Amino acid sequence: MELCSLCGGKMEEQKVEVVKKVNNNLIVVKDTPAWVCVQCGERYYSIETVKQIERILKDAGEKKIEFHEILAGEVSFHRQVVSA
Ligand SMILES: [Zn+2]
Repeated sequence: MELCSLCGGKMEEQKVEVVKKVNNNLIVVKDTPAWVCVQCGERYYSIETVKQIERILKDAGEKKIEFHEILAGEVSFHRQVVSA
C-alpha cells in the first residue's frame, strides 16, 4: 500500500464527498472512492475517478443529469468571527 506523499501517513480507502462549483451551482458528488491519509486527511483519487468526476460535473453543468438541490452556505476565508 502506498503512503501519503505529503506526510508519509497510512492511506485508507474511503467514500468521500467531492464539492465543486459548476457555473453558479455547488455540486456535491457523493460516494466518491478516494484514498484518504489517516494523519493529514489528504485525499488521492485514481485517474479513472478524476475522469468520472469531470464527466459528472460536465453533465450536471449542462443539466444532462438530475441532481438534488441542497442548502448551501458560503463564507469567505477572511471573514471575521462576529461575537454575540
Ligand atoms: Zn498525509
